[in-house]
Amino acid sequence: MLLHIGLDDTDSPIGGCTTYIAASLVEKIQELGGKFIDYPNLLRLNPNVPWKTRGNGAICLRIEIEPKLEGPVRYTVIKAVEAYSEFECENTNPGVVFHSGKIPEPLTRFSDCVISGVVSLEDALKLVDKHSASAIGYKNMRGIIGALAAIGGLQSGDHTFELLSYRKPENWGKPRLLDTASVRVMDERTRKLTFNNVDPETGRILIAPHGPDPVLYGIRGETAEAVYRAAMMVEAVEDIERWVIFRSNQGTDAHLRHQSNISELKPFHPAIVTGVVVEGSRTIKGGHVIFRRGDDTGRIDCAAYEPTGSFREVVRQLVPGDRIRAYGGVRGLIKGEGGTLNLEKLEVLHLASDLKLVNPSCPTCGGSMESMGRGKGFRCRRCSLRDRELTKQTVEVKRQLEPGLFIPPPKAQRHLTKPLVRYGREKKIIFSGELFESWHWP
Ligand code: ATP
Repeated sequence: MLLHIGLDDTDSPIGGCTTYIAASLVEKIQELGGKFIDYPNLLRLNPNVPWKTRGNGAICLRIEIEPKLEGPVRYTVIKAVEAYSEFECENTNPGVVFHSGKIPEPLTRFSDCVISGVVSLEDALKLVDKHSASAIGYKNMRGIIGALAAIGGLQSGDHTFELLSYRKPENWGKPRLLDTASVRVMDERTRKLTFNNVDPETGRILIAPHGPDPVLYGIRGETAEAVYRAAMMVEAVEDIERWVIFRSNQGTDAHLRHQSNISELKPFHPAIVTGVVVEGSRTIKGGHVIFRRGDDTGRIDCAAYEPTGSFREVVRQLVPGDRIRAYGGVRGLIKGEGGTLNLEKLEVLHLASDLKLVNPSCPTCGGSMESMGRGKGFRCRRCSLRDRELTKQTVEVKRQLEPGLFIPPPKAQRHLTKPLVRYGREKKIIFSGELFESWHWP
């Protein structure tokens, strides 16, 4: 029989990681006789929901087992979730969902909604009942939403892979020991097949997280073989406890599906909106850059935050009248008013003329002129000519910006954001079900 196991919401800001529970289950399920029919799936969900811990990831394990082993597998999964979840954290509400057989269409649609919208626990529980799945929820049970979404997320279109390696428990919380030179070599040698290993603007290593979770590093790429080969080039100075390759919707823009008018925007939803810049940018405290854009239905502030680095330079060059398509997450919208679109990407579609009023040149000697006061004309600085009839002139300033697609540097990208290097590499094929031989260790 086919058994799909969804897991979510087990970690907290001070520890744990749902992918680690999944990685530890791989070995245990195989020992019980389960056969994996897909890599463990790491599904990233709507990155704008306020109650996520970090990257809003959920897991699904898809296995084939003898029907008599279903009970022991379920028991093993529940024991692992209970052993590793950070129950003390108020915001940790684990969920486990089991579903056997083919994935019904409504579960796939539900998964799409969880990636690109906000859903309720009631919706999830209704689907669990209707499709005879079974769900175990702890505390407020919110994790059931992500666990069910992971089961429905078949990732039959574009997908990527990530090899996650884990630290020994005695090292959790200590500084990570990785040979950074080996990471840079790996990045150079595998550049076409892996992505977001190193931030090109700052040189920062991006494969190692900074928090207390058990992940030592994660390498993302186009194929399981590519991330495996890349990981073999990275020298860890500390011992690795285990590693597993996940199949994922990371780097695919799976959340950015719907074009909306400004009046249709909803809080915490990802959105794509096309319109014109109505007010040029201003930089606020902290280095964040804000500009205002509009369409026929309303206006909204768009924000490029300080960590987006050079992306803010693009935003600073926008002028009123520029036609743009903005991609991002809606925050702070209350009754349709006062929201901000936190920019993830920006497409400049058409540049307006940037017109400026300047003092005229002297009609006699060509020198620069200065105003003699409002409505009193201009005086030449060089030959002292005075002319009361002269007025300011309109000149067109050459634009430094060109139409095109702009994305913040990798260090500021969401897990789901498709990086520039992946454009043109999207997979259209359904995953074959054949796993690369070395997809986990031990
Ligand atoms: P973890 O590694 O524990 O999964 P995380 O950063 O992925 O950490 P969670 O701790 O899982 O975040 O918190 C996200 C919570 O929000 C989960 O309970 C999940 O079920 C729920 N959730 C995720 N996406 C949505 C959504 N689109 N609508 C409603 N609830 C959601």
